[in-house]
Amino acid sequence: MNSYDLIIVGAATSGLYLARKMAKRGYSVKVIEKLPREKAGTKMDIFHVTRSDFIKFDIPCVHEGDPAWAFEFTENHFSSPSNKYHVNTSAETVGLHMKEYVALMAKLAEEAGAEIVYEASFEEFTFSGGAISGIRYSTPGGITEDKCRVAVDCSGIASAARRALPNGYGVENFRIEDEDLLFVILRYAKFDSEQMNTFWLNTKSWYAPFSQDNTEKIIGTGASGSYEKAERDAAKLDSVSSHGEFELIKTEKGVTPYRRPPYSLVADNFIAAGDAACLTKPDCGEGVTSSMVMLDIAADVLHSALRQGRTDKETLWEINCRYNRAQGADFALVRAFLTKLVSCVTDDELEYCFRNRIIFNEKFLNNGDVTPKDAIQTAVKVISGLSRRGVSLKTMGAVISGARLAFELRTHYMNFPKSPEAFPVWAQIAERLWKKVGKVK
Ligand SMILES: Cc1cc2nc3c(=O)[nH]c(=O)nc-3n(C[C@H](O)[C@H](O)[C@H](O)COP(=O)(O)OP(=O)(O)OC[C@H]3O[C@@H](n4cnc5c(N)ncnc54)[C@H](O)[C@@H]3O)c2cc1C
Repeated sequence: MNSYDLIIVGAATSGLYLARKMAKRGYSVKVIEKLPREKAGTKMDIFHVTRSDFIKFDIPCVHEGDPAWAFEFTENHFSSPSNKYHVNTSAETVGLHMKEYVALMAKLAEEAGAEIVYEASFEEFTFSGGAISGIRYSTPGGITEDKCRVAVDCSGIASAARRALPNGYGVENFRIEDEDLLFVILRYAKFDSEQMNTFWLNTKSWYAPFSQDNTEKIIGTGASGSYEKAERDAAKLDSVSSHGEFELIKTEKGVTPYRRPPYSLVADNFIAAGDAACLTKPDCGEGVTSSMVMLDIAADVLHSALRQGRTDKETLWEINCRYNRAQGADFALVRAFLTKLVSCVTDDELEYCFRNRIIFNEKFLNNGDVTPKDAIQTAVKVISGLSRRGVSLKTMGAVISGARLAFELRTHYMNFPKSPEAFPVWAQIAERLWKKVGKVK
């Protein structure tokens, strides 16, 4: 039996990011990964990171010619349901091969001093005095037990360690159900069309490149609850989009969490992170860098907690407070609002908004400075839409109440309790608000 400052479950983008950070600071870090080394990072081929995030998170920036590099692009478009009206946005974005990137992150974590054990699957926690003191994991050679001061769950949707927590330990041990997942179908296709990176809100579909060749594009579609629903939306997109007949190179399927994170991400000697904590972006389900926002905070708090020799819930609590202020409150707002919006707005109403550039215009979608004058103009357009029956009163009512609920949640998360004592009441109120939000239909 060995002893570590940190044991991390899962050697993919979240686990390896934290492992490298903490090993660089001189802590003993072990990462266990259930897959063999050559299979790690193979759950999908392509993912995207914006150029600015490489700098923000100090992760190795890849360039053309590197094994992990796939392509780059800047322009994006939001499209109306009929594909007639478009709004342009821009962000310098790099497409990366997941397998190669995970291999690079593993190499860097090991160079920093972390130990990674592959084909090692988390089985259970060990406890001392009621608090986590280590883990047991299985390998082809049998069961191994190690001690740790803190265990971190970065095992993705499986949430292997979080789900093994005893009830009432401090972090919810829920399973991420199908209704909490976005089911994504990626069709890697070859077709001639001028139309590049485009997003259709009504079918949660998009075009994205998968190489620098303009004729090679991913036609992606995501739907909550099932692949059947995603297939239906993909067929709906096919009927309006510009791709027409295309050569299908391959199809990939995958799931990404679409639900609120556990109310607390920390308990005695335990942290939940990444997809295991549902830290994905609420507008698109991407989770590689949104997880890093939380892991940066976790690394800082862990550094001081480990130095103090105290890694109980009270000491790790700061992770909750800082995370919610940095990102969690905004994600709660967007998740609540979008859940309400997609459940009530019809395709015709969306089309009307695009045609009249209500909300769907460059200023709103590029996060530009929206002045009070812009807001008033938008309100006037919405009201005239109501009178012309472009938007129904029922939808308008649902959007307004959704926005109110979303802001209420944001304020509630910004006021996350500074210590665990006030947490049960805070969680009760949060639960009531999320019940009103419901699930994506
Ligand atoms: C189709 C699709 C496209 C996406 N595109 C993007 C994108 O462009 N950009 C973006 O930021 N995000 C994207 N995402 C989301 C992104 O992939 C995830 O948010 C991110 O990979 C989560 O990383 P993670 O390290 O938390 O979890 P994972 O990547 O799921 O890694 C978890 C690791 O834990 C291991 N593990 C599981 N159980 C155990 C166990 N019992 N013991 C030991 N190890 C275990 C797994 O084998 C795995 O290696 C996409 C998701 C999908 C499905």
